[in-house]
This record gives sequence, structure tokens and C-alpha cells, in this order.
Amino acid sequence: MKVFGISLGFISISLGISLYIPFPQKILEPAPMVSLRILDRNGNLLREVLSDEEGRSQWITFQEIPQNVILATLAAEDSHFYKHIGIDLKAILRAIIQNIQARRVVSGGSTLTQQLIKNIYHFPRNWFWKIVEIWYALRIEISLPKDEILTQYLNRVPYGNQTFGINAASWFYFDKPPSHLSLAEASFLAGLPRGPSIYNPYFHFYQAQKRQQEVLQRMLNKGMITQEEYKKAYKEPLNLVAPQTAFRAPHFCDFVLSKISSKERRNIFFIRTTLDFQLQKDVEVLLKNYVKSLKKWEVSNAAALIMDNETGEILSFVGSADFFDSSHSGQVSGITSLRQPGSALKPFTYALALEQKMTAATLIPDTKICIRIKGIDYAPKNYDGKFHGFIRLREALACSYNVSAVRVLEKIGVESLLRRLKKLDFKNLNKGPDYYGPGLTLGDGEVTLLGLVRAYSTLARAGLFKKEKIFLEIKDTREKVKSFSESQFVRVFSPQISYIITNILADKDARIPAFGEGSCLSLPFPCAVKTGTSGNFRDNWTIGYTPHRTVGVWVGNFDGSPMHNVSGVSGAGPLFRDIMLLLEKREKKNFNFAIPEGLIGVYICPKSGMLAGSFCSGKIKEIFIKGTEPEQVCNLCPHTILAR
Ligand SMILES: [Zn+2]
Repeated sequence: MKVFGISLGFISISLGISLYIPFPQKILEPAPMVSLRILDRNGNLLREVLSDEEGRSQWITFQEIPQNVILATLAAEDSHFYKHIGIDLKAILRAIIQNIQARRVVSGGSTLTQQLIKNIYHFPRNWFWKIVEIWYALRIEISLPKDEILTQYLNRVPYGNQTFGINAASWFYFDKPPSHLSLAEASFLAGLPRGPSIYNPYFHFYQAQKRQQEVLQRMLNKGMITQEEYKKAYKEPLNLVAPQTAFRAPHFCDFVLSKISSKERRNIFFIRTTLDFQLQKDVEVLLKNYVKSLKKWEVSNAAALIMDNETGEILSFVGSADFFDSSHSGQVSGITSLRQPGSALKPFTYALALEQKMTAATLIPDTKICIRIKGIDYAPKNYDGKFHGFIRLREALACSYNVSAVRVLEKIGVESLLRRLKKLDFKNLNKGPDYYGPGLTLGDGEVTLLGLVRAYSTLARAGLFKKEKIFLEIKDTREKVKSFSESQFVRVFSPQISYIITNILADKDARIPAFGEGSCLSLPFPCAVKTGTSGNFRDNWTIGYTPHRTVGVWVGNFDGSPMHNVSGVSGAGPLFRDIMLLLEKREKKNFNFAIPEGLIGVYICPKSGMLAGSFCSGKIKEIFIKGTEPEQVCNLCPHTILAR
């Protein structure tokens, strides 16, 4: 018995002394702001990503906390705060009885000091940790003055919606500093920490308001406010700010976040991206309205991407018509999802042909041909269902004839095209040449809109490939600028070949036989453009560029259902045109494509592609890489006339 008594005494004295161990100061330092802000190139906030543990928190000092917030908080949580020693014995006794009745920890009887400890350490909810919590609460009361404990509490307590501390809550819910809060607002906020979810004013406003009235009533009962102040606050309407759902350019922000690991994310304070939010908004409106107008053609979605050619910077990134429209899978990004490109890869087939000594004037047979794709014999057809005999390469590409494209690909080889497409970073074209066969140039392989825009911007950049750039500046939590890697320029085509392809794609006359005169692809300024339609009208593309900007547009349905007879001119074409016109209006950069050295213009016969002779009608000027221009004068025209 005596030993027991001595032991008990020893433990009590030890515990008593242990309360005087100074409270660790480091843990009381203000928590850092750990939200990550994604901004557009001009500093407009696109999205704020909050870390799960900390959320928003902006530290303020005791002097900055107004009296009505302090009184309302004490009334709501712990009116004896300035009298007790960290724990409220009466409240604990009451809690113990309640808990025994319920056979679990239901009621804490916590003082404000205990709640602070809870918010610092996040102990599990059981009896053991409850005792530890009390021990810490007693210790912090010995270490710190009451005002400091209250300051710590008001800076750390959660107010819901990922806001922590009265300052963040005041800005979040009422868009003002705490010093400007009315009594009604202060009492409203003071009520929230009791149950941040059940009193979430954006979902349960009525409950939150009832809680506020409860707090006001207590303030009145404790003599903290007068009857008049009570009445005024009770009646005052609460003007809550709409939740700051900064959720702009959603697909783009998702894309940005996908480039940063979650580990890196913790240390990043803000990212200034390349996006131009003003432009983005304009394109979003164009796209949304356009998709609405295509409803009758069974089109439910579209995507559009704009790239700056010089730097590869992404300026606008609209992944779907409506991100929040789940009935049409609006959260799927039409920019990064894989689809069949239709004819959109043809320019690269022809660029390789130019490398292999063909010219824009080379005659290609557009006549019936049988090819084998994946073991099945297949006779490619042209979009108009006709064959066009011998046509010049310029016409074949501009009119996007399928048969001639297959003929050219057979000549250059599927393997060499595949190799070049990989250099353009079409990663998904990862099967062997036999898998695709000549169908590769007709769109039998999956690509993304982003991939197509990268590839076309390579032509706009005189043959230099560069991966897109999305970051302008990244700062860490200490506001230090962080470095990030930027992709390098890689030569994929020569400037001369890039120019000839560009010149063909910008040739309004050459495409007339297939697209008609004055089609939506004909813009009032130099613009190279190509369309594509996948099998069964599932996807429709228009990709093109001016010297400054590359624009890619996809139109289709995310569920892969076919559209109703929509072609490049009626599907993605008009939207592409509207975006190009918008860019021209904003930027006024109506320039010609720069002509590289080493090219020569020669008059040729449009029928034979040879040097124009005196018999030839409608001779045209064609561009050649010096040394590849035809040497013989046309010998076809006089004979043709004779034959007739
Ligand atoms: Zn001729």
C-alpha cells in the first residue's frame, strides 16, 4: 500500500513537472500557404489547387482580429476561455457521463485550447489520445498567454470549403478582411467550426443560419452584446460571395497538372502558363455556339487548339464544348484523346515524296488501284467517288485525293513515312509498317489533335519541330523562381520542302476541283489548311496555319457515334475559319509565308507538268527546289490536240 502511494505520488509529481516542458515553438509557426495557383500568361487566375491537408490559410496577428470575432467565437465555443486552465473540468465530467452512456467518444467537452491542440496534432479519437490532448492543452496554457492561444486557434480552425483560419474564411465567404465583418457576419463565421460540413453555407444555408442565430443568442445571454445589436444582427441579410469556383480553361489546367508530379506540386506556389485567357474565352464561345448549330447533324462535341509557331506556346486549349456536360462526356479532352486522322497526315506523305525527287509538278496516276490492308484487299476511293487520271502532285494534295496518296505512299514506302511521323512525335503510331500498310496515309492510325498541331506547326516553322510550351514561370512556396525544361527545336523537313507543302496547302485555286470556289477554307489572308474525315464520319478535322499561328479543330462525338454526312468543309472547317478570323482581328498579322533560298519559279504546262510550250494553254508558275525543275518542254499538248 505504501509503495503504491509513493509510486502514485511520484507519477503525479512527474506529470506535474512535465507540464512545464516548454511547448514546441516550431509547430506554432504560421502554416505556409500551400495552394497552387495556375495563371494565364497575363496573370489571370485559372485554377487554385488546394492541398488536401492544409487548404487556404492566411495568418493574421491578434491585433488584426476584431472584437466581434473574438466575442462570437468565445460565445460559440468556449465562453470560459479566459478563466480556465486549458481544460474545463465541469464540461469534461459532463462529457464523460455522456460518453459512458453512448459507450464511445461522442462528446469532447473540449475547450478552445483543446481544439487548438486537435488542429495542430490531429490525434485519433479515443480515450488515450484524449488524455494526451489534455496534457498538451495544460502545457500550452503554461507556455503561452491566453491571447496568443486564441490567435493560434483563430488562425488554424477550419471554416469549411478548405478554408482555415478566420482571415481566409472572411475573404472566402464575404470577400473582405475580418476587420470589416459586421456582427452578423462575425457570428455567422464563428458558428461554422462546430461542423464545417453540416453548416456548409453553400449546401446547408438554413442550418448555417440557425447556428448563427444560436451564437447571437449566446452572445446576448452572456451580455457580450446589447438587445439592439442582437436584433440588428439577427435581421441583417447575409450576402455570401458565390463560391470562388475559379475553374477556367478546365482541360488546359488538367493538362498542366498532368505534367507535374504530386510530389513537385507540394512545393509549387504558382505557375504562369502560356494560355491567353481572353482568347480562350472567345474560342470557347465560338466553339460552344458552333456545336449547338451542328446538333441536327448529330454532332455533340468539338475541340480547338491554338499554338504560337515561333515559341510553340499554347495560347488556347478548348477540349470540349462544355466541360460540365456529363451527358456528352464533356470532361474528356478532344485535344489529347486518340482518334483517326483521316486525310490529315497526307501533307507529310507528300513532303517525303518531295524529298525523293518528286516535285509539285510530278504527274501521279489517280486511277483504280487495289491494295492490301491487314490481309484484306481494298480499293481506295476518292471522296467524290471518281478517278481523275494523271494529276500533278499539287492538285493531288490540295484536293486530298485518296488514290494518288496511296500511289505516292507505295513509292516512298510505309516504313519511311512511319519513321518520319515518329520524328514528329506521333507516339501512338507504334506498330510496324505491315500493320498499317498504305492505309497509313488515309488515316489508319490514331493521333491526337495536339499531335497534329505539333506536326503542322513544324511545317509553319520551316521544318523545325518543337513540342508545345505551356509554362512561362514557376515559383516555389518561398516565391523563388524554379527552372523547368523546355523542349528543343528538331529539324524534320528542309525549309524548302516545308515551304512547297505550305504553298500547296495555301493554294485556294488548286483545291477548287474538290472543295469548290470560295469554300470556308479560303481565308482573306495567307493560310495553309488541310481537312480530314475518318471512316464513317466519326471524326472531322481541320488543321492549318498562318506564319504566326497553328490552329487545330476537331469535331465529332466522344462516344464514337458517327456524324450525319459531315465533311471537312461543313464540319470542322467553318469553326477553323472563325478562329482564324478571330486571330487575325486580334493580332493583325496578315503576312505572307517567308520564301526560303534555293527555290525557283518556273512556268509549266498544267497538263503535263513539263516546261510550258507554245501549244500549252493556261500555263502556270510552279515552284521547285533548284535543280529539280523540269528540263523538257511539254510534248503532250500538240499530240493531244492531234489525237482529238
Ligand atoms: Zn502542255
